[in-house]
Amino acid sequence: MENLVIVGAGLVGSLLSIYLARLGYKVRVYERRMDPRKTEATPYRSINITLCRRGLCALERVGISEAATNIAVPALGRVIHDPLSKTTYQPYSNRGEAILSVSRHRLNQLLLDHAGVYGNIELHFNEECVGLDLQSNKLRFQNRMSGSQSTCSFTRVFGADGAFSRLRDHCQRRTRFNYSQCYSIQAYKELVMPATASGEWPLSAGALHIWPRGSYMLIAFPNTDRSFTCSLHLPYEGDPSFGSVRSEQDLLALFQHSFPDACALMPSLVQDYAAGSPNAMITVRCFPWVIDNRVVLIGDAAHSIYPSYGQGANAGFEDCLILSQCIEQHGHAWDQALAEYQTLRKPNADAIAELSELHFQELRDSVGDPHFLLRKEVERRFNSLYPGKFADLYSMISFTLLSYVDAVHISRKQEALVQQVMSVQHCCEKLRSGEIDDVIHQVMRRADTEEFFFSSTKPGGGAAPEDKQDLSTCVSGAE
Ligand SMILES: Cc1cc2nc3c(=O)[nH]c(=O)nc-3n(C[C@H](O)[C@H](O)[C@H](O)COP(=O)(O)OP(=O)(O)OC[C@H]3O[C@@H](n4cnc5c(N)ncnc54)[C@H](O)[C@@H]3O)c2cc1C
Repeated sequence: MENLVIVGAGLVGSLLSIYLARLGYKVRVYERRMDPRKTEATPYRSINITLCRRGLCALERVGISEAATNIAVPALGRVIHDPLSKTTYQPYSNRGEAILSVSRHRLNQLLLDHAGVYGNIELHFNEECVGLDLQSNKLRFQNRMSGSQSTCSFTRVFGADGAFSRLRDHCQRRTRFNYSQCYSIQAYKELVMPATASGEWPLSAGALHIWPRGSYMLIAFPNTDRSFTCSLHLPYEGDPSFGSVRSEQDLLALFQHSFPDACALMPSLVQDYAAGSPNAMITVRCFPWVIDNRVVLIGDAAHSIYPSYGQGANAGFEDCLILSQCIEQHGHAWDQALAEYQTLRKPNADAIAELSELHFQELRDSVGDPHFLLRKEVERRFNSLYPGKFADLYSMISFTLLSYVDAVHISRKQEALVQQVMSVQHCCEKLRSGEIDDVIHQVMRRADTEEFFFSSTKPGGGAAPEDKQDLSTCVSGAE
């Protein structure tokens, strides 16, 4: 008899409980916070996240994707605001595909509502895991309301307790457990941009808005109430930084100089900024994720990444889907299933961690850069002419189910083709006049497209086997 326990009822722990319950297991979930369905989001820590196709696919398998879509706002691209408040729109794809902006708190409530429907899921709130004893297979909890302590036994425990996982702490003391953490030199604060007095969107709807300024930036995510949640990213030190922006005057000077159009739309800017300390961003890598076949790390507890690519939750949801498939495919032989789970997922977690670090620099430094914009346009032209064979990296990550590893592999090969086109004299003018199409056709003819895309999509664990479709169906979104 399996006695399964999940520590953490955040996004990943809640979804995992549903997957395990649907496989027929009885699951107990312990969460240290109050039930988020009975609380408001913590002010300034609401965190909007974006869901993309891989995250939605994992929700769809358990019948939740439609409900998640209903509480989200689609973003079809990003609007770049330059220092003179001039804007440029960059669509995320040629085909009108969108990522979905959703409140993390609201999504957590939704997942718990669904978990609550299963008779074989027990949810316990205000219970903080404070110890793990692998001799006796027992977890120790402290109730955060009463202070009382209790224990619970398990045959397997899942650490879905986030980037600062208590269960992972325990594993770190074991021989041959590898662990690294790396803090970004940047942090972020959440600020509010409300709907206008007449209830309209303050900025154009249907997009994320970005103010890239080299070493710092502002990003705005749309909410269902027509407000935007903004993240101000600054370094900890330097100028400007969270260290240098200390007073109301410093803050207003920064905003009036760097984000004048946003500043005018943020009446509570000063209060919001003063309300909390900067939130750190951390990359955590560790291995193994399965210890003694009894402790299993999943989601941020196994791989915490920078938020820049918008993939942390999507990757964690994909972990749940893949783990569930491994259990089914191995006929519930847990040892084999868990071994396969970590073998499939670890390289993908490493790939998206690296991409997230690179993408953070790209958002901050490059999205407004003319060379970068030209490259994006060339990539879009490749995709328009060869929709079944060419997709840029962002599209492969956000709008396909290719594993992260495969997407990176394909993108590296594609990059060489894009460079060939970019090195053509007067590339920009030729793009405008349409002459570039001949160059793209020549480059594609020379490339061995068979080898180019499909031999590289070997099983890698990013998606369900039946979703290991070729790029044409992935990119077009056809099911
Ligand atoms: C600013 C920001 C923006 C982001 N944007 C995106 C995005 O656009 N797209 C995306 O996909 N991801 C995004 N992410 C990442 C995403 O939020 C995380 O990857 C996701 O929340 C991870 O889910 P999780 O359940 O693994 O961990 P968490 O959400 O951290 O949940 C862990 C849970 O465990 C509980 N817990 C912790 N310790 C204990 C304990 N000892 N005992 C009991 N319970 C415990 C916590 O209270 C919490 O509820 C973003 C993150 C940040 C910070």
